[in-house]
Amino acid sequence: MAECSTRLVVVVATGMDEYQTRLLQGAQPVLANGGMSVLAYLNGPLGPGLPKALVNLLCRTRPAGVLLTNVETDSDQREIISLLRTLDIPGVFLGIDSPDATSVHGDNVTGMRALMAHLLDDHGVRRPALVRGIRHQADSVAREQVFRDELAARDIPVDEDLVIDGNFWNDTAYRAMWDLLKRRRDMDAVVALNDLSALGTLGALAAAGLRVPEDVLVTGFDNDQVAALNWPGLTSVDQDLPAQGAVAAAQLLAQMDGALPAREIVVPSHLVTRGSTADQAAWARGQVDAAMGMARAAQTRMAAQDAVIGMNRAMMRSRTIADVATGLAACLEWVGIKRCFLALHERIPGDGGVGSVDTTRSHLVLDYRDGVSQPVNSEVYPSHRLLPRELQGELGSGVLAMQPLKAGDEEIGYVMFERSHGPVTVSEVFHADLSRTLEALVSNQWLQDHAAQLERIVVRRTQELRAEVEMRRRTEQELQAEVEVRRRAEEELRRSAMQDGLTRIANRAAFQQHLDHHWQRQAESGDELALLMVDVDLFKAYNDHYGHVLGDETLRTVADCLQRVATGPDDLACRYGGEEFVLVLPGSDSGAALAVATAFRELLADAAIPHAISGISATVTASIGVATVRARLDLDPAALVKAADRALYTAKSSGRDGIALADDGWSDGAVDGRGEVPAAVRVIPQPRAAADDETPAPLERSAAEG
Ligand code: GH3
Ligand code: MG
Ligand code: MG
Repeated sequence: MAECSTRLVVVVATGMDEYQTRLLQGAQPVLANGGMSVLAYLNGPLGPGLPKALVNLLCRTRPAGVLLTNVETDSDQREIISLLRTLDIPGVFLGIDSPDATSVHGDNVTGMRALMAHLLDDHGVRRPALVRGIRHQADSVAREQVFRDELAARDIPVDEDLVIDGNFWNDTAYRAMWDLLKRRRDMDAVVALNDLSALGTLGALAAAGLRVPEDVLVTGFDNDQVAALNWPGLTSVDQDLPAQGAVAAAQLLAQMDGALPAREIVVPSHLVTRGSTADQAAWARGQVDAAMGMARAAQTRMAAQDAVIGMNRAMMRSRTIADVATGLAACLEWVGIKRCFLALHERIPGDGGVGSVDTTRSHLVLDYRDGVSQPVNSEVYPSHRLLPRELQGELGSGVLAMQPLKAGDEEIGYVMFERSHGPVTVSEVFHADLSRTLEALVSNQWLQDHAAQLERIVVRRTQELRAEVEMRRRTEQELQAEVEVRRRAEEELRRSAMQDGLTRIANRAAFQQHLDHHWQRQAESGDELALLMVDVDLFKAYNDHYGHVLGDETLRTVADCLQRVATGPDDLACRYGGEEFVLVLPGSDSGAALAVATAFRELLADAAIPHAISGISATVTASIGVATVRARLDLDPAALVKAADRALYTAKSSGRDGIALADDGWSDGAVDGRGEVPAAVRVIPQPRAAADDETPAPLERSAAEG
């Protein structure tokens, strides 16, 4: 025997319509007597494969037994049956043929026989027309057979001209009957093999001006709700669904107690007479009652439709799931639902998409009992328990119908409800409206959640990127700072390699480089280039007298003066060695060079460094040799240095503290410095001496003389 954790029987059905409602009317009391509670699982058309809710119900809730009625598709039916076998859950099938299972069927024969006896014996019918169902369909064939057998039993021949095909369908029956009535109208009854085709027949007869039951009697089969609602009320055969339910329930209980051999049980059907086969005299008396009963039924039906529309409006107005719960609670009493629980599954948010649903975990959003909406315990519970712990007792009474709800392809939750009154169609509309509304709201909610989640991700990523950019920027800055430090260090190194340590002006190497560079450029442009060679006068004596420290200080002052007159963009003041300096003046002719030399002398004079033992002045003086040249590539720059040095020699030998200028033509014919030394040097008299001197004209002397 199957191990089951519950005293629950699940009835699997396509919906909670008239058929299922009447089956349960019979099954529920029997199961309750057997200590079982009942849950009707409504297996609506949900999509390919069994709904997870059903699988969960069977595998995890593990009902004690299952009553299986027709389900939407054959494949679903096969899957459910095989699942029941696998799980070893006892099952009884209703209206389903399954060779090795117990099944319960309605019966075509008993009711149909009673119906024929009612027509032939009670009413003396002799020329009945037959509206067949779907040809070759088992029920249609069986019912037709009873029709023929009962006529034969009374020696009444079948008038084959009065046998038409109604296809179990309203419209088809109407057309077939209309065509028949064009040929003949002498039939005294019409036996339609189901209620729908009987309704079509009633329509055609009324259109042809024939009255039912006065002119012709009409019968149907199934005893659908429509049989009672359509004038004059349709006599029909009832398959006794409550009895089928009761028998199936008893079989199931017996199976739970111990395995029984599979068997097929047929439940007798019975005749239900109404106005369409009423006796003339009785009908005359009973028409008002019939009309009133029908009017009442129609009124109830219309009220139910109003209720459905009202609920539909409430759903349409809902903007949130809370709105749905409130709107629903306000309508339930009206549509005849006395208990209702709405549960939603938990959502697992996903990174890439809207996420998925965890159908194994649920929470309630509506708890409606005793005509009021109760405060909801929204705690999450395992879906297979169907309700939160404190509401488990609700499963033990009455029959709750469970309907899974879908959004897109996903099951998002389920609704459980119990009808108390009102027409059965309400439950179908109820679940349809609820599903649609929730589908829209939940999808929307998920999309919003997803959008919010994406936004959070974007914000986070943006922050991360900003931080990363900032970090890189800082790293780059640090790197740049480091590069700058190195660059400065290198520059410093380069500069110190090119700088004189004592005076901080360019050293001899820098001088050489500068001269070579500008020599090249001047040679190309054809401009002149001047060079000043400066030597401090009588500096040995200065050192001897004042000491080396002051001597160094003086050299710095001399360098500073020289630096200050090097104002041209390419001018360069350098320490040549010892107390000798040079000034390179690219682009300067002799006039400009003399002006610079004079300015230097004046600056040095202004510095007024005492030189007590100079003999030529009270302050430190210098002698300056100046040479200019139009640079040529065939001439070594050293020639210019030599020429300036010569001029300096002349300045020294002319009494110091003066300027000597090498003749402009000194380089004529000179090549690679091997040319002529300057033939003549002009010595510029000292300005101070010149002030007293009456003849300031330059003194012409041979360099050799100096
Ligand atoms: P003249 O007018 O003919 O140039 O006489 P002078 O004494 O300047 O010439 P001399 O070449 O005989 O002496 C140069 C002196 O310069 C020798 C040395 O004491 C001094 N001198 C060279 N370099 C430095 C230096 O770096 N610091 C100091 N304090 N003195 C230096
Ligand atoms: Mg010297
Ligand atoms: Mg000197």
